[in-house]
Amino acid sequence: MKKITIAIDGFSSCGKSTMAKDLAREIGYIYIDSGAMYRAVTLYCIQNHLIDGEHIDVDQLKQHINDIQISFQLNASTGKPDTYLNGVNVENEIRTMEVSSKVSLVSAIDFVRTAMVAEQQKMGRKKGIVMDGRDIGTTVFPDAELKIFVTASPEIRAQRRFDELEQKGVKANYDEILENVKQRDYLDQNRAVSPLKKADDALLLDNSHLTIGEQKEWLLHQFHKAITC
Ligand code: C5P
Repeated sequence: MKKITIAIDGFSSCGKSTMAKDLAREIGYIYIDSGAMYRAVTLYCIQNHLIDGEHIDVDQLKQHINDIQISFQLNASTGKPDTYLNGVNVENEIRTMEVSSKVSLVSAIDFVRTAMVAEQQKMGRKKGIVMDGRDIGTTVFPDAELKIFVTASPEIRAQRRFDELEQKGVKANYDEILENVKQRDYLDQNRAVSPLKKADDALLLDNSHLTIGEQKEWLLHQFHKAITC
């Protein structure tokens, strides 16, 4: 059967990763979380003191950008890929509020995007991939056979993020999360390089009131349509 490229873009915390991961598992494709790559670069900046408040030492980061190696390895116990930064598993560290509050600043830097997009394109060369992010359908894989743009209200997204953190035993504050969701929406949509926007040929999915099951069914239907045309 022919293999295709599937691009899933959309706002933060609207369940893109869960849906992309589940779809990839179901159809036997590779799943790549491009947001995890920007989060890993952000963690590198924090660990190496390249961020101070809102200020990023862009010159230093540029000098070291090629030292930042990001990879994914399947975690046998969760059945999901974990993110590695220079060989170290950083899956939990990249999901903290500290990283979430800085990642949009780092991901707006042009040479960071150039480096990540090049890596992402390499990963997708053989197709058979589901990648989620902000610019996958517009910049990384403009020729993807199936493009989905996901959205949901900021309040619903903040609640989902809150529940996810609580489930992991991480103490969370709903108002702080909602503020972060809105701030990231603004920064992601208004940055100069590759701003978040729906590709003209992407299918719009508002999952505010869909169950996981309904969403899954819709997605599989779109996949089957895409591989048969
Ligand atoms: O998807 P996630 O919320 O983990 O992404 C974290 C951040 O990484 C986003 O808020 C955005 O700033 C950035 N990002 C991006 N382009 C992508 C994926 C994520 O700019 N393709």
